[in-house]
Amino acid sequence: MAAVTAAGAGAEVTLYEHRDSPAAKLLITGNGKCNFTNEKILPSHYHSSTDEDGRIGRMIKKFRTEDCLAFFENIGIKTRVRKGCVYPYPDTAESVRSALLLELKRLGVRTRYDCGVLSVSSDRTVQGERFDRVIISCGSAVAPGTGSDGSGYRILKELGVELTPVYPALTPLVTKEDLSAIKGVRCEAGLTLTDETGAVTEVSSGELQPYEKGFSGICAMDISGRACRLLGDGKRAFVEADLFPLMTDEEFKDEIRRRCRAFPERNLAETLTGLFPKKLINYIVHPVDSRKESFVDDLCRNAKHRRYELSKDMTKDFSRAQTAAGGVPVYSIDDNCMLKDREGIYVTGELLDCDGICGGYNLHFAWTTGHLAGSIG
Ligand SMILES: Cc1cc2nc3c(=O)[nH]c(=O)nc-3n(C[C@H](O)[C@H](O)[C@H](O)COP(=O)(O)OP(=O)(O)OC[C@H]3O[C@@H](n4cnc5c(N)ncnc54)[C@H](O)[C@@H]3O)c2cc1C
Repeated sequence: MAAVTAAGAGAEVTLYEHRDSPAAKLLITGNGKCNFTNEKILPSHYHSSTDEDGRIGRMIKKFRTEDCLAFFENIGIKTRVRKGCVYPYPDTAESVRSALLLELKRLGVRTRYDCGVLSVSSDRTVQGERFDRVIISCGSAVAPGTGSDGSGYRILKELGVELTPVYPALTPLVTKEDLSAIKGVRCEAGLTLTDETGAVTEVSSGELQPYEKGFSGICAMDISGRACRLLGDGKRAFVEADLFPLMTDEEFKDEIRRRCRAFPERNLAETLTGLFPKKLINYIVHPVDSRKESFVDDLCRNAKHRRYELSKDMTKDFSRAQTAAGGVPVYSIDDNCMLKDREGIYVTGELLDCDGICGGYNLHFAWTTGHLAGSIG
C-alpha cells in the first residue's frame, strides 16, 4: 500500500523485501479469504497503550472504509460483505495480493526481492542507497514464516526508537484452570476482562471455543491483547464468562424456575437441555446441588459469572497470534506516521503499538498507515 500510494503520487519507489515476493501474510488472512476491511471502522475497535491524544482516531478518519474500497476497486477488486466484514469477491486472499503486485508493476516500482534490510540510518540510507523518504513496514514477529520475523523491531531499536513491550494479540486466552472438560464446545458468549482490583478493562462478545488450556474464538481473541498488556505489566488478569448472553441474570433464573415447573420429571442437567450443548450442561451443573435453596442462583453464577484467572504464559506465545500488541509508541509518530525527530522516516502497520479486533481492522490499519506514509506532498 505504501509503495503503491507513493508511486501513484509520482515518487520513484524502491521496495525491499527479504522473501522472494512480498505480502505473504495476506495469503493466510481470513482463513485464506482475506477479510481486508470492515464497513464500520471506529477508534474503539483498536487498542493501544500509547495513543494519548487520539492519533489513531485521526488517522482512520483520513482513510475511511469508502477510501479503502475505492482504492481496491481501482486496482480491480470487487468485494462481498458478510456481517460487515469485507472480502474480495472471489473469496481468495491471493486475488488481493496479485492485484497489489500488478499495481506495483504498472507504476514501475523497483523491487529488490530476497533482500533483507539489516538497518536504516537516520540519513535515510538503506542497503547503501540514500532516499528522500524511508517507510518501514516490516510487520511484527507474528507468523515469522511469512517474513514478519521481528527484524523491523531490530532496525527501529538501532535507529534509537524506544519500543513498548511487544505481546501477542488476537490469540487464544490461556487460563490457569484446565478446560479439557468443555474442549471442542462452541457457543455464543460474553467475556469481561478485569484486573486484580475487579476493575473492568474490556468486554467482548461473539463465538467462544474452549480448549484444554483456555478459550479461543473471536470473543476471547478480541480481548487477548489487553489481557497480555495487563499480565505484562505484572498485574493479575481475570475473565468472567457469560455462557448465556441471550438473557439477563433475572431472565435466566426465571427460565430455570419455569423449566423446573414444566419438567418435574427431569434432573437438573436434563432441565437445561435445549439451552446449552451437552458438554457445557455437565460443566455448568457440576457441582450445583438441586436440593439447596440457592440452586438457581448457583446455576446462574456457573453459567453467567464464572471467573477464570489468566496465565502469564500467554504473553510469550506468538505461535497462534494474528497480530501484536505494543511496538513503536503511537506518540512517537506524527499523524502521517513519520517518526518525530527522524525527518523522512515512517513506520506503518503492525510495527506500531496498535492492535485491532477481529473483522478486518488490522489490515485496514495497515492500509491506512501505508497510505498515509506513502502520500507525498
Ligand atoms: C493467521 C492470520 C490471519 C489474519 N487474518 C486477518 C484478517 O482476516 N483480517 C485482518 O484485518 N487482519 C488479519 N490478520 C492480521 C494482518 O495480516 C496483519 O495485521 C497485517 O498483515 C500487517 O501488515 P504489515 O504490513 O504491518 O506487516 P506484514 O503483512 O507482516 O508485512 C511485512 C512485510 O515486510 C517484510 N519484511 C520484514 N522484515 C523485513 C526486512 N528486514 N527486510 C525486508 N523485508 C522485510 C516481510 O517479509 C513482509 O512481506 C491476520 C494475521 C494472521 C497471522
